[in-house]
Amino acid sequence: MPLTPEQQAEIDAQRAAPRQTLRAVSEGMEAHLYRPREVLDHGFVRVIDYMGDDSAIVQAARVSYGAGTKHVSNDEGLIRYLMRHWHSTPFEMCEVKFHVKLPVFVARQWIRHRTANVNEYSARYSILDREFYIPAPDALAAQSTTNNQGRGAVLEGAEAERVLEMLKSDAGRAYDHYEAMLSQDGQQGLARELARMNLPANVYTQWYWKTDLHNLFHFLRLRADAHAQYEIRVYAEAICEMVRDWVPFAYAAFEDYRMGGATLSAKALDCVRRMLKGEEVTQETSGMSKGEWREFEGVIG
Ligand SMILES: Cc1cc2nc3c(=O)[nH]c(=O)nc-3n(C[C@H](O)[C@H](O)[C@H](O)COP(=O)(O)OP(=O)(O)OC[C@H]3O[C@@H](n4cnc5c(N)ncnc54)[C@H](O)[C@@H]3O)c2cc1C
Repeated sequence: MPLTPEQQAEIDAQRAAPRQTLRAVSEGMEAHLYRPREVLDHGFVRVIDYMGDDSAIVQAARVSYGAGTKHVSNDEGLIRYLMRHWHSTPFEMCEVKFHVKLPVFVARQWIRHRTANVNEYSARYSILDREFYIPAPDALAAQSTTNNQGRGAVLEGAEAERVLEMLKSDAGRAYDHYEAMLSQDGQQGLARELARMNLPANVYTQWYWKTDLHNLFHFLRLRADAHAQYEIRVYAEAICEMVRDWVPFAYAAFEDYRMGGATLSAKALDCVRRMLKGEEVTQETSGMSKGEWREFEGVIG
């Protein structure tokens, strides 16, 4: 369980004290506010605060005084137009702040997204918990033989057991030494900022992460994608569900144009046109490399 009873009580208290506001409120997001959504074995993601809704995007695009246009269908159409034409600044008018608990090796991928504001739990100041990410058996995969940056079939039998045992015992031993180095029983005790260097990359950390909707969509486009590493993808997928409830029109446009859509090069577009005219195009006649052709075939099915 990632939350202590005290943490759960704080969340319950926050949810039990609603306040009236004149600001834009998204009913879908209100349902998520403060509640942690469990991810991996000890992680979570939860919304701490947000600003704006679908109407805020429309309002900003029109630089208007009111809340969007008079007709819901106009709002949806405008949001789709903005997304389709990469008119991105109206999406930056919506903001969201998450509290995330995640393994350090996932945090290293996540932090590469520079267009966010971050404050991480200080392991100089505090002692980290004995919590390590240990993959579930169905996430314990072998190295892919075709993709150096990917995984293949799930490990099974004795090999799976041996790997799991190594992951658990190494993490446990490293934490035992961390505690022993910090201890002040009969010794001075090593500084927390130094003792932490002994901990493996699957130890959990936490941060507050704030970004705007445009940059969040960019993050989700890359990290909720099937090619993203599973351990960060599950966080991105959890966030997708929250964003769907927060800004339904914007999320639907994002799903349609970004997640579900594809960008074609000039050569690829030329091939599509030739195919539509009935020509049989192959990799050799396409002008594309083998890798490009493989990806092109993946797009057009
Ligand atoms: C599948 C996958 C594999 C990856 N593999 C590797 C890897 O092997 N090694 C590795 O190092 N990284 C890797 N990355 C990380 C990747 O290179 C990016 O750093 C990461 O996805 C963040 O993207 P971003 O820079 O677009 O996002 P953000 O930092 O959020 O930036 C958003 C956009 O803002 C603009 N921007 C932000 N900062 C600057 C700046 N300083 N200068 C100019 N423009 C800026 C850019 O247009 C950028 O696209 C991988 C990412 C993915 C999704």
